[in-house]
Amino acid sequence: MEFDVEKIRQDFPILSRKVYGQPIAYLDNGATTQKPRQVIETVRKYYEQGNASIHRGIHFLSEQSTDTYEKARETVRRFINAASSSEIIFTSGATGSINAVAFSFGERYISEGDEVIISEMEHHANLVPWQMMCERKGARLKIIPFNEKGELIFGEYEKLLTDKTRIVAISHVSNTLGTINPVKEIIRKAHERDVPVLVDGAQAVQHETIDVRDLDADFYVFSGHKVYGPNGIGVLYGKEKYLYEMPPYQGGGDMVDCVTFEKTTYNQLPFKFEAGTMNYIGAAGLAAALDYISVIGLPGIRQYEHSLLEYATMKLMSVPGLRIYGLAPEKISILSFLMDDIHPYDAGMVLDKLGIAVRTGTHCNQPVMDHYRITGTLRACLAFYNTTGEIDRLYEGLLRVIRMFG
Ligand code: PMP
Repeated sequence: MEFDVEKIRQDFPILSRKVYGQPIAYLDNGATTQKPRQVIETVRKYYEQGNASIHRGIHFLSEQSTDTYEKARETVRRFINAASSSEIIFTSGATGSINAVAFSFGERYISEGDEVIISEMEHHANLVPWQMMCERKGARLKIIPFNEKGELIFGEYEKLLTDKTRIVAISHVSNTLGTINPVKEIIRKAHERDVPVLVDGAQAVQHETIDVRDLDADFYVFSGHKVYGPNGIGVLYGKEKYLYEMPPYQGGGDMVDCVTFEKTTYNQLPFKFEAGTMNYIGAAGLAAALDYISVIGLPGIRQYEHSLLEYATMKLMSVPGLRIYGLAPEKISILSFLMDDIHPYDAGMVLDKLGIAVRTGTHCNQPVMDHYRITGTLRACLAFYNTTGEIDRLYEGLLRVIRMFG
């Protein structure tokens, strides 16, 4: 079936907006994605017709709201093929999910002298929480390096795994380099030593079909807003055997079973990790987003985005003095680049005035910048609603930047 991008674009009201009198070319999808009408309508209708707090009421609206929330959990379970919905915990986002695991797993399983492995290309969200936990526990953080193309060096990873390794935390897709990491092999290798693996899927779920059981991931996390859903909602998938043993990381309403001043017992999974009034409307919006992309189909999305990536790579390579950072053969549609001595902010500001939204800076990836000895890049992240026409506009815009600053 032909991928009908013009039809898809009609689902996204914001894409018909103009900025500075120009139609917007939104290429900042790695930071956040735009929302289809189906998600916006779900959220609007919920506030208009269905709003009531979950799990705590016996009245009609509350029961309906609880039902919608638990159905959203089931939609997420199906989307990533988890074994049980009790392994799906709603959080505020990928950052919230990783902090939860770093704290709670750390409390239960990490002691002084233990080791945690991450990689050189981690987003700060999958770096700082582990660093904080290691500082708290007297553990050591070890780093898998990457090569010039932006691929993890597997042999170095194998060397880092020791009897002291307690967990590996790795991004599925790099938000700066676009590299798709071989997470299945990384997990297999860690499991040879009974070491669990957390996969940061914040840049993967919107591009690739995810099957947590096929990957055999022990934890898998992502954010709603990067997968065409609302802000403020995220997912933590964890294998029951770990979640069961891990202590809650936040106390409050709903996560408890019985509370006295002497002692509190905790609720069963997944509620043990969901303290307070959860973002149930965000969860419903996320489920609508996952349903939406399931109908379009991730295999078709992947193929279309790959063709955009190839086209954009070819176009950008022909811009004089432009260098792309991240040229792994296995990558998704993220392009980080610099042009000779032109500062990314200067370029980004010119592109903005032409209606082209790209990201500039370190992308919460300072170690990646250090690797290449640069202070930042421009980054274009292409989604399935982007077009070759928008890439042409980016190309023309970059030529204009060179005329101004080159
Ligand atoms: N991991 C990666 C790879 C990301 O790209 C991001 C967001 N840029 C995050 C984690 C954090 O996501 P959030 O800010 O939605 O919690």
